[in-house]
Amino acid sequence: MFPYVFLDGTFVALKDSRVGIGVNALHYGTGTFEGIRAFWNGEELAMLAAREHFQRLHRSARMLGMPLAFGVDDLVGIAVDLLQRNEVREDAYLRPLLLASTETLQVRLHDLEPSLSIAVSPMSLQYINLDGVRCIVSTWRRTPDVALPNRAKVTGGYIGPALAKSEALLAGADEAILLTIAGHVAEATTSNIFMRVAETWFTPPVQDDILEGITRAEMMCILRDDAQQVCERSIDRSELYAADEIFLCGTAALVVPVIEVDGRVVGNGTAGETTLHLQRTLLAIARGSNARYSGWRTPVPLPSIARR
Ligand code: PMP
Repeated sequence: MFPYVFLDGTFVALKDSRVGIGVNALHYGTGTFEGIRAFWNGEELAMLAAREHFQRLHRSARMLGMPLAFGVDDLVGIAVDLLQRNEVREDAYLRPLLLASTETLQVRLHDLEPSLSIAVSPMSLQYINLDGVRCIVSTWRRTPDVALPNRAKVTGGYIGPALAKSEALLAGADEAILLTIAGHVAEATTSNIFMRVAETWFTPPVQDDILEGITRAEMMCILRDDAQQVCERSIDRSELYAADEIFLCGTAALVVPVIEVDGRVVGNGTAGETTLHLQRTLLAIARGSNARYSGWRTPVPLPSIARR
């Protein structure tokens, strides 16, 4: 991690940013978080979709009933400041985290002290193999909205995905796909899913217990701008077995070709052409070499290296 973090209104050294073992969030998962990538192109650093991530943090906080004292614009400014203080000159990942920090045994969400932190880690492109992954459909299901608000990025909501990911890795696969309680495809452990059948792309609708991914929205936008048909509708497991192309997408994951599901080869067993095009396009946007979507970036001015 980089040496400075933002904590409750000030910038502090990472070593001074510890939480006590009694805090509510540590025991009960009463918190919400985000993950934002910043990309270094050799000359300039820029965050991708920073506003959208902080808007989602606000929506998540509202769903949990947790107060968030900083507005979206303030948070973008804080993130810029944080990257500047840390003199980040490599690909990085910002980790905003809103925790219920009161030390109480009570399980509830109201009347708890919130604590907002943002830490930054270096982050390579390869969070998950960008050449292609083998997936299994997990025996663990996605929690339904009546049990846990999936569209809020809740810290406590990651136990199911963690169990599913371990199940996949221990079975010799790379990644897990979770179904809803009703048996529809929801998403992978930390990424959304798209499937192409003939000329049409399909992705599960927001009511199918997905996190409403920011990269998912970006993919829909690029595909539609490229005159491809995208349809949000429920997907059955068996459809994955006969799909022509499948990819996963997320902030950390980027765009990941799925080459196998439950031992069945997807398409011809190699990364799909459109998937690779989307992967290249997203990276070009992130690094500032695609003018069409330059509005998705927030440049972070850094002091010139000569002055360091
Ligand atoms: N689903 C889950 C469960 C996730 O954790 C993530 C990562 N935030 C995604 C989907 C992808 O969302 P985004 O594109 O906003 O990162």
